[in-house]
Amino acid sequence: MPESGSPVTSDIDFERDGKQVSYLRVPHSRNDSAWASLPVPITVVKNGEGPTILFTGGVHGGEYEGPVALMNLSRQLEPEAIEGRVILLPALNLPAVQVGQRLSPVDNKDLNRVFPGSPNGSLTEVIAHYVHEEILPLCGAVIDLHSGGYSLDFVPYISMHYLQDPGMNERTRAALEAFGAPIALIIEEISGEGLLDYAVEGMGKLFLCSEMGGAGRLSPRSLRIAELGVHNLLRHFGVLEGEVVSPESQGLPTTRVMEVPGIDYYHFAPQAGIYESRFELNAEVEKGEIVGRVHSLTALETPPRQVRAQRAGTLIATRGPGYVTVGDTVALLAQDRA
Ligand code: CA
Repeated sequence: MPESGSPVTSDIDFERDGKQVSYLRVPHSRNDSAWASLPVPITVVKNGEGPTILFTGGVHGGEYEGPVALMNLSRQLEPEAIEGRVILLPALNLPAVQVGQRLSPVDNKDLNRVFPGSPNGSLTEVIAHYVHEEILPLCGAVIDLHSGGYSLDFVPYISMHYLQDPGMNERTRAALEAFGAPIALIIEEISGEGLLDYAVEGMGKLFLCSEMGGAGRLSPRSLRIAELGVHNLLRHFGVLEGEVVSPESQGLPTTRVMEVPGIDYYHFAPQAGIYESRFELNAEVEKGEIVGRVHSLTALETPPRQVRAQRAGTLIATRGPGYVTVGDTVALLAQDRA
């Protein structure tokens, strides 16, 4: 058992040169299998000295571009082609990925709300704790690949937070733009506590997070964007040889640097009903304009409730499934970064 007290075991030796494709074994006793363990897939490719980059996918289920991009990278990467160490966790919340849901069906927890986790907590907390104690300390940079999942649909973007430290801000911004996504976004979060993001940033390490499409399906174009991004970051950090490849050369749009500077860029459903977006993704919306309307199914005698843009901006996220309950995010606007 590692010093951290984690019950997770693995035959991975993080210090060994070469390529290792294996599992983190998370003890998971079940009615139908007494001594079972959950095999969370992991790939470690290492060659000599150099930076350690961690890519995570499947922190939520139902988000597919990240896991596929990382499984492809796991098959492609060979130690002789790199300098440093690449750690891939393509399906970190495995039970959630297997059922295509955001939360783990085992304990109903959101892996991205339980950091730093606990060695004797529920399954999701045990996974978070192992990552926090055994993997994050090895890393110089962490890239967490998300998509919109079932409930949201995004213009594909790579994002960073507003950072206080000028040096880290500059390094993170450079990596953000090297990714080559249609939008490089600087964002104020509304998610609250327990994020992997804050755990990584709190350790003084570089952190980026993507949203690669969504609505519960894999988009071939978003997958190409994710794959360009992971390769570009490996080039940017000097782990892979060669220059960063421009999105234009791949038939993808030029990166637009944007920001979500406050919570008034998020828009929520004012009542339950069917959400009617009045715009497609990427539309420019004026301040005060009606972004969408919510039609209550039980109040046909009243007009639909309007969602008005609190700011002028570009619609970068919208609701996936049509039916909403009060408080659901239905629209996210962003503005160009000056
Ligand atoms: Ca997500």
